[in-house]
Amino acid sequence: MLAVYIHIPFCKQKCKYCDFNSHPGLESFYQAYIDALAGEISFQASKLDSPDVKSIYMGGGTPTLLDTAHIDAILGAVGRYFSVARDIEVSVEANPETVSLDKLTSIRKAGVNRLSIGFQSLDDEYLRLLGRKHSAEQAVKAFRLAREAGFDNINVDLIFGIPGQSLANWALTLEQAVSLGPEHLSCYGLTIEPGTVLEREIANGLIENPDEDLQADMLVYTMESLEESGFEHYEISNYAKPGRQCAHNLTYWSGGDYVGFGAGAHSKIESRRFSNIAGPQKYIENAGTDSCVADTIDLSLQDEMSEMLFLGLRKTEGISSEEFKARFGKPVQAVFKDEINDLVRDGLVIQDGRLRLTKKGILFGNEVFSKFL
Ligand code: SF4
Repeated sequence: MLAVYIHIPFCKQKCKYCDFNSHPGLESFYQAYIDALAGEISFQASKLDSPDVKSIYMGGGTPTLLDTAHIDAILGAVGRYFSVARDIEVSVEANPETVSLDKLTSIRKAGVNRLSIGFQSLDDEYLRLLGRKHSAEQAVKAFRLAREAGFDNINVDLIFGIPGQSLANWALTLEQAVSLGPEHLSCYGLTIEPGTVLEREIANGLIENPDEDLQADMLVYTMESLEESGFEHYEISNYAKPGRQCAHNLTYWSGGDYVGFGAGAHSKIESRRFSNIAGPQKYIENAGTDSCVADTIDLSLQDEMSEMLFLGLRKTEGISSEEFKARFGKPVQAVFKDEINDLVRDGLVIQDGRLRLTKKGILFGNEVFSKFL
């Protein structure tokens, strides 16, 4: 069974914090890109022997910049060349300024049953600071339109730790988002990525660096507050109402197989990882041929064991020592003895038949994962 990811690398404008593979101003390439995707989907399906698909996720970029006919064509190509059961999770990422009731209704009819809306904040001052193209009011409206269009599984993406943002401001955004009743929330601490506008603004003294201690306080607040509101904290940045975890992303964290279509998309099939050419125009020229793949890595046994640790520990349930032994033939404590001892001693990980992050480990997740990289 495969999870399918489809990358749409188009945006209206570049947000100030964004280092994703997304590009404004490429409207004239949309149709060629959809055709290229269909070519790649058919090509890969023939190589993979048309396996069963267990989830589809269309991310970006901004997939909802496309016409519904484009989204329909992409999903149609997956359905034509792969075995797709009717009831699988089909997610699409949406930006508030790109949706209308008509568009959402037709996307829902096209078979999309989960929407992930990028709010990021519900405060116009911070939306401007982040370079978002929508207001808080548009974000709330997008959510209501999605409900009206029949979406009963909605994720809201939020960012905390924005320069100048107080804990009270974050708490208010979180409360307002929760009051809408989403099934899922993804809450990320802002990171300043190299080459972004925000990085330049900080270097030029125009805005402050995010305060790391305050960001940690916000994360603790988020965990406690969302738990009180009935959300399960199931991955470092992700919270779901019971039964509403994102099946697609769980495949990544559980070491399952996935195939990515589109510019820069990554795939993992058994012990091989590969990724596509990142530039949209170059991708269009090469899709549907072997030269579409820019990088291939064959994972060693040691790589696979490390991956199970640094991906599995992202989930709050952690990893099962028994499963590790069943998969690799040796106990995890024997393979990573020093690393685990250090992490347990520092209070970052606990062992109880499973290996999982403590609350402190969640706050210092990167420190834990770097032990296994
Ligand atoms: S909408 Fe998302 S992908 Fe597009 S520029 Fe903003 S953060 Fe990046």
